[in-house]
Amino acid sequence: MQIPSIFRPIMAWLPGTFVRQSQQRKAHTAALRQWTTELAQTNAELAREIAERQRVEHELRQAEAKYRSIFENAVEGIFQTTPDGSYLSVNPALARIYGYETREALISSLTDISGQLYVNASRRAEFARLLQEHSTVSGFESQVYRRDGQIIWITETARAVRDASGVLLYYEGTVEDISERKRAEEELQKAKVAAEAATRAKSEFLANISHELRTPMNGIIGMTELALDTALTPEQREYLTIVQDSADALLELLNDILDFSKIEAGRWELESLDFSLRDTLEMALKTLAIRAHRKGLELPYHIPTAVPDGLIGDPGRLRQIIVNLIGNAIKFTEQGEVVIRVTVEWHIQHEVSLHFTVTDTGIGIPPDKQQLIFTPFTQADNSMTRRFGGTGLGLAISSGLVAMMDGRLWVESAVGQGSTFHFTAHFGVRPEATAQPSPTWDSLHNLPVLVVDDNATNRRILEEQLTSWGMQPTMVDGGQAALAALHQAVQKGAPFPLVVLDAHMPSMDGFRVAAQIKQSPVLTHATIMMLTSGGQSGDVARCRELGITSYLMKPIKQSELLNAICTALHTASVPVHDTPLPPPSRTQSQRPLHILLVEDNVVNQRLTVWILQKWGYSVVVAGNGTEALAALARETFALVLMDVQMSDMDGLATTATIRTQEQATGAHIPIVALTAHAMQEDRERCLAAGMDAYLSKPLQAPQLFQLIDSLVPCTVPMSEAACAGVPAGAVFDQQATLVRVKGDREMLQEIVQLFRAEAPELLAAIRASMARGDGHALQRAAHSLKGTVRSFGAQAAGDAALRLEEMGRSGDLTQAALACAELEKEVANLEQALAGFRQEQAT
Ligand code: ADP
Repeated sequence: MQIPSIFRPIMAWLPGTFVRQSQQRKAHTAALRQWTTELAQTNAELAREIAERQRVEHELRQAEAKYRSIFENAVEGIFQTTPDGSYLSVNPALARIYGYETREALISSLTDISGQLYVNASRRAEFARLLQEHSTVSGFESQVYRRDGQIIWITETARAVRDASGVLLYYEGTVEDISERKRAEEELQKAKVAAEAATRAKSEFLANISHELRTPMNGIIGMTELALDTALTPEQREYLTIVQDSADALLELLNDILDFSKIEAGRWELESLDFSLRDTLEMALKTLAIRAHRKGLELPYHIPTAVPDGLIGDPGRLRQIIVNLIGNAIKFTEQGEVVIRVTVEWHIQHEVSLHFTVTDTGIGIPPDKQQLIFTPFTQADNSMTRRFGGTGLGLAISSGLVAMMDGRLWVESAVGQGSTFHFTAHFGVRPEATAQPSPTWDSLHNLPVLVVDDNATNRRILEEQLTSWGMQPTMVDGGQAALAALHQAVQKGAPFPLVVLDAHMPSMDGFRVAAQIKQSPVLTHATIMMLTSGGQSGDVARCRELGITSYLMKPIKQSELLNAICTALHTASVPVHDTPLPPPSRTQSQRPLHILLVEDNVVNQRLTVWILQKWGYSVVVAGNGTEALAALARETFALVLMDVQMSDMDGLATTATIRTQEQATGAHIPIVALTAHAMQEDRERCLAAGMDAYLSKPLQAPQLFQLIDSLVPCTVPMSEAACAGVPAGAVFDQQATLVRVKGDREMLQEIVQLFRAEAPELLAAIRASMARGDGHALQRAAHSLKGTVRSFGAQAAGDAALRLEEMGRSGDLTQAALACAELEKEVANLEQALAGFRQEQAT
């Protein structure tokens, strides 16, 4: 069949169309498949996102539940407040703390926090201010009212919450009830105040008791002394000597108790004086050396040159600690040595902390007792008390003093091997004096010196000292080695010009070595310097027999050693004072002074009158202040001895009246306070009342006479001849001084030691008072020094001190520096003269 022509074009178009449509359908189908795939993917992603979101939501819900639980169940109160003080939300704990049943009740009741809640509205204002300024506050304590009106203590910690632009939205924070803690703190504080009051009361009680005890002690000690001065059977003398020793021991105990109670009550103030560390230590050591050497103990000490010497602090108290530690070390050591060392712990600008050690080779202290011994009245071994005596207070006092010097005291010890007591203490350093300058004299430079000493510590110290002066020491430990070294040096053609020889050595002692040197023609030219011990009488005599004129008493002061070496090398001898001492013949004053004694205690009256009359003074007794004024109106006296505590008008009031009456005439009678009070402030009260000096009871006759002599000028009622004994401008009138102490050389030596301890302190006080422009203090210090130097008949020094005293009194210090320089020169002269005397005493 033929297709009509009309269809032919259609027929020709149709296949193309089918093809196209088919192609389009295919394309659509493909696109549809693609979309479907993508849709499936999108759906899958959506499902994942939904799952993820559900998970996050779940976690969020869990977290919120957790935090809500914390919020709901916290023990601490949690809050949010508006900046102006209204609660936005609070937790149940806060409602509980503030005494509300529900948080809603709290929020609706407490609408004005600062007004309703805070006991002190300004605390809330302070809290808000701190939050504003710092955005966080922690541990802010305040008192608030609970709902029932009860006041409680709370502590708040909060922060300010701000929006992105920094605008304050609200505060949120926590509250804790700390009422219990506060109550405990208050109780503790009350207990502390009560304990402090009790300690003060106890210390005052102790001070009073010790005062009350001192008064009868005065009678016991004085009467015993007088009784011992009379004709006695040997038995009676023995008994009375025991009474005297016991009374002295009791007095020492009283002094310790007084010191301890002053420290405990915080009533001890340290002085701040300029002082020399080396002088202070050496002074303390000199006194102890005699005891050490008596037991055959070496007492070397070592202060390296790096340790500053010019310090600011309390030399008296430092000495007290040192004397206690060394005293104990000597007491508990039978053989060996006691070594003192000082090193610098730290040194920053004008402050230094020094580390002192006192090492002994004694009995040691068991470990379980090493802490205990620092507590009062405790001893390591009570049986020792019977053997060695002691109160167990020394270390407690030293600990207290060390603590006051910002330091600490401790011990290292092994039983049978010895102990080392350490303490640190804090001092100011005088700007001009940091380290002890080492002299570099040409004559000493490279000078060979042979040192012979059996004690290793001594050798080490001497070696360092001599080397620091540029010398070349060779150290040997015994006589044989010394002689060998000397001969060897001669053979080498370089003999030793100087031999420093310890007198006491085992097997071959220093004297034998010296004798051999002297006998050997090749060695005899060597200068021998002998180191002797104070406790060994006869050392100096033996030196003289051997023709050794250069000798030093241990412990050797660094400055003394250097001076002695220089003197020995230049003059090959040190002058020996050969003047014989006068026999102690005079037991009476050559000045028959007329004295008024004002005292209401009958025993003390009798005792004092006895002492004064025995010394050749005439005495009028007044039993109270009124009688004293009457006596003064009736008669002329050279001096008044005035008891401080009397029943009607006490000593202070009586003195004040006397001084007021004197204003009309311009006269000034010396008044000496007799006080049983040992407190510094009591003494100051005496001086402030117009008294010239004070003496502590029990009265010690030598001190009393010394004081009277220093206070009563030669022009007062007495014979001319009495004054003639003191040569004008004398440096040290040995004879007159000995007479003053009834020929008691030991007493004189004690006074000399006392002077050597006191003079540098008084000079330092004079300089310090001048620097401060403090006329009153200058007057007092110069007055004291005047009394001391005059007791040695040192007229020139006394006059120089008097000039300073007068300048202090007038307040015009323009010439004080000059007068002070003069005084220092005279005191140095006196010290030198006294050093000669002390060497003499060693023979
Ligand atoms: P006192 O010596 O007066 O008893 P201290 O407080 O000075 O009092 O000393 C307390 C105790 O410490 C002494 O009794 C002694 O037992 C012990 N002690 C102190 N120093 C030493 C020492 N260097 N060696 C051994 N024991 C010591």
